[in-house]
Amino acid sequence: MQKKFGSILIISGPSGAGKSSLINAAKEKIGDYYFSISTTTRPPREGEREGVDYHFVDKETFEADIRAGEFLEYAQVHGNYYGTSLKPVREALEAGKLVIFDIDVQGHAIARERMGDLVTSVFVTTPTLEELERRLRSRATDGEEIIQKRIQNALVEIEYITAYDFLIVNDEFEKAVDSFIAVAKAARLKKGRKQALQFINRWRGQED
Ligand code: 5GP
Repeated sequence: MQKKFGSILIISGPSGAGKSSLINAAKEKIGDYYFSISTTTRPPREGEREGVDYHFVDKETFEADIRAGEFLEYAQVHGNYYGTSLKPVREALEAGKLVIFDIDVQGHAIARERMGDLVTSVFVTTPTLEELERRLRSRATDGEEIIQKRIQNALVEIEYITAYDFLIVNDEFEKAVDSFIAVAKAARLKKGRKQALQFINRWRGQED
C-alpha cells in the first residue's frame, strides 16, 4: 500500500473578490481537505466565530507565537497580523489531506519558499478594480477608511498574479466555482519531492 501524502492549495486575492464564497461553494466537491484556520490580531467581524473563521488573539500573544516559531508564515495585512500555524498543517499533510490556505501575497511567497514543491496556488479577483470597489461597498461590513485601505492594498496585490499558477476571474460565480474545483483537483495530484522518492522506492518493491 502506498502511503498517503497531502498537498497545499493557496488561494489569494483582494478582499471582496469572493475567496470565502468560492471555497464554501466548492467544498462538498473537493473531498478530503483541511482548511487552515489562521490566527489574527484583527477584531472579529459580525458573525465570525473563534476557531471557525480565525483564532483571534491580541498583539502580545501573536508576537510570543512568532518568537516560539509557531508559524509556517505570517504577515501584516491592513495593519493587523495574520499567520498560519505550522502544527495542524503538518498533521493534515501527514494524514494525506489537501490543505487549503486563504492567505495574502506575502504569505504565499513565504509558503512557496518553505514548502514550494507541495504548493499549487490560485489568485482570485474581480474582472476590474471598479467591480471590486462596488463589491466592497455592497458588503457594508466595513467603514470608508477600511474600504480605502483594502482598495490600496488590492492595487499592490494585483501585481503578484505573475507568481501564481492559476488565475480565476470571479465574474460569473458558477463558472468560478467550477474552475476552483478543477484547480483543487489538480492541487491534490501535486507531488512533493520526498513523496515522489518514497513512491519510486515502494513501486520498485524497496523499503524507504
Ligand atoms: P480578512 O481580514 O478580510 O479576513 O483578511 C485580510 C487578508 O489577510 C486576506 O487577503 C487574507 O487572505 C489574508 N490572510 C488571512 N489569513 C492569513 C494568514 O494566515 N497569513 C497571511 N499571510 N495572510 C492571511
